[in-house]
Amino acid sequence: MVPGGRIDVTLPQEQLTTVTPNDLLDWVRTAANSVSTYYGHFPVSHLTLRISADNRSGVHHGVTYPKGGGLIMIAVGRDTSVSDLKDDWTLTHEMIHPAFPNMEDSHHWIEEGIATYVESVARAQVGQLPVATVWKQFIIDMPKGEPGPGDQGLDNTHTWGRTYWGGALFCLVADVRIRERTQNRKGLQDALRGIVNGGGRITEDWEIEKALAMGDKATGTTVLIDLYKEMRDQPAPVDLDSLWKKLGLGIKDGQVAFDDNAPEAAIRKAITTRK
Ligand SMILES: [Zn+2]
Repeated sequence: MVPGGRIDVTLPQEQLTTVTPNDLLDWVRTAANSVSTYYGHFPVSHLTLRISADNRSGVHHGVTYPKGGGLIMIAVGRDTSVSDLKDDWTLTHEMIHPAFPNMEDSHHWIEEGIATYVESVARAQVGQLPVATVWKQFIIDMPKGEPGPGDQGLDNTHTWGRTYWGGALFCLVADVRIRERTQNRKGLQDALRGIVNGGGRITEDWEIEKALAMGDKATGTTVLIDLYKEMRDQPAPVDLDSLWKKLGLGIKDGQVAFDDNAPEAAIRKAITTRK
């Protein structure tokens, strides 16, 4: 049982080399805890999670389906260690998917973008991931979501980079803009809670506009719809250097350097603070 829901877990049939069934259940609880905290409760009342074992290493091959209120299939290698489970982000990513309505293929980027962005932020909010690690990853990975030559916007450019990191870039820009428009009182988290509380779960097929309008209603802004119009069918690159500067973020000797005197340092802090 997790706050707001129940997860039916099927463990691998065979014994793993070092990891015990309890270690696997701890891993499930940890991922569910970060997701429940981010959304205010576990996003779906019933989730089925099937864990299988194979010869590959670590946690891999997570997939989420709408079936039965939400079904996650994920594999762990037989030699997976407890520290592999501790470092794993994929189960959190998969548990975020049930918290957004099912989209047509052209909008797959928003499903993956939310899972990519929220996974790091949610884990930081509950102390599972250091805040500096979140921003370091974003500084390294967000440029992978920028448009390349010939880009025709997020709805028409289905590359790996645009789908995962282009979608995450949409989320980051939306988060900052919502906070700018609300004196930092609301953020993407409020929009996503509004969508899930309005019934926007993976079992429902929605138009993207319906989900974004519901998210905007929760923050009292039009940020999501406006940003979608900017990014859906044209490249719309993001000036990341200015964004990092405004948030008070830089890299010095391979480490993240925070500048608390930056104009939007408070917004940066609010993003990874538990709500
Ligand atoms: Zn995914």
